[in-house]
Amino acid sequence: MTSTGVHTILGQSGLKRFAELDQNNKVQVMYVWIDGSGEHCRCKTKTVDFEPTEASQLPVWNFDGSSTGQAVGKNSDVFIKPVALFRDPLRGGKNKLVLCEAFNYEMKPVATNKRATCMAAMEKCKDQKPWFGIEQEYTLLDLDGYPLGWPKGGFPQPQGPYYCGVGGGRVVGREVVEAHYRACLYAGIKIAGTNAEVMPAQWEFQIGPCEGIEEGDHLWMARFLLARICEEAGIIASLDPKPIPGDWNGAGAHCNFSTECMRQENGLPAIEEAVDKLSKRHDYHIRMYDPNEGRDNERRLTGAHETSDIHTFSAGVANRGCSIRIPRQCSADKKGYLEDRRPSSNCDPYSVTEAMITTCCF
Ligand code: ADP
Ligand code: MN
Ligand code: MN
Ligand code: MN
Repeated sequence: MTSTGVHTILGQSGLKRFAELDQNNKVQVMYVWIDGSGEHCRCKTKTVDFEPTEASQLPVWNFDGSSTGQAVGKNSDVFIKPVALFRDPLRGGKNKLVLCEAFNYEMKPVATNKRATCMAAMEKCKDQKPWFGIEQEYTLLDLDGYPLGWPKGGFPQPQGPYYCGVGGGRVVGREVVEAHYRACLYAGIKIAGTNAEVMPAQWEFQIGPCEGIEEGDHLWMARFLLARICEEAGIIASLDPKPIPGDWNGAGAHCNFSTECMRQENGLPAIEEAVDKLSKRHDYHIRMYDPNEGRDNERRLTGAHETSDIHTFSAGVANRGCSIRIPRQCSADKKGYLEDRRPSSNCDPYSVTEAMITTCCF
């Protein structure tokens, strides 16, 4: 798909003119949900005549599920229920973004609604105050699907200067990363930071620490904003875990995790106990760590490029070739958190955090 040229018809200043018109006391709410791929968002807007302060004040809505891989045409209505409210950095003012859960005609969660079971599990262990921090890696692509800034049909210089890089020829797409960072802060998303990654055109942002269900809510809305800003920039943010085969790093979504017990003085035994439990359920976690039950992650978790091999569980202090890494600082402090390096960049954070507490907290 190529650019429509809308911008050249209206011009940047022309678009701004309409955005600045007053809204006649109406508020625009962008309903956002996860589609049938389990990896992409869809959205549509509703006008309301009040400024909502909580998601629950907004009405349940519906959409045509037969167009998103979530229902059949004969019985196509899928319901979307608002669950997490954010300020809208694109429209500004009183306008909102609202993340929704999707339900079928019997009000049962659709297949890609992983939030419902996650929420139930979080509820059961909330006394342990589980915290998460997910590191979302992604790759910027041109609309032709080739990495942004790469010589067409060719390759850049080998990896080395790009991770946390600075300078022409070393990083590409920083404008988008900066715009996304500010958009997340404005929205009220708990974004912890950003950095350029090992492969050129690959980047990372982190969401956390968040307690319980909030991790999935905030990460999904941050992904929505990334897609939306890339749409304006005329590029693509890919969550493919291995966009370029060969000697190029893949993209993951490391999940940092702790309970209150792990964070307190001498929490290290609690961390070690969690690692031991994780070691016994490797296959379950691999199935929960990408939308295709491990098949996407197979291309990435090779044992090379700072990954562990998909078939083998391993853990170590400061070791980036392991399934689980205990950060050096946590080992020294004898408290803190662990990092699960296995989740794929296209994972559903609700599935990842649910798996984590199911194994470690029950
Ligand atoms: P890395 O060194 O692996 O690149 P990052 O700095 O990118 O790590 O990400 C670490 C993430 O862990 C951040 O999102 C941070 O908020 C989160 N984090 C920090 N402390 C904790 C904790 N106690 N429990 C869970 N997550 C945490
Ligand atoms: Mn990181
Ligand atoms: Mn990283
Ligand atoms: Mn990490």
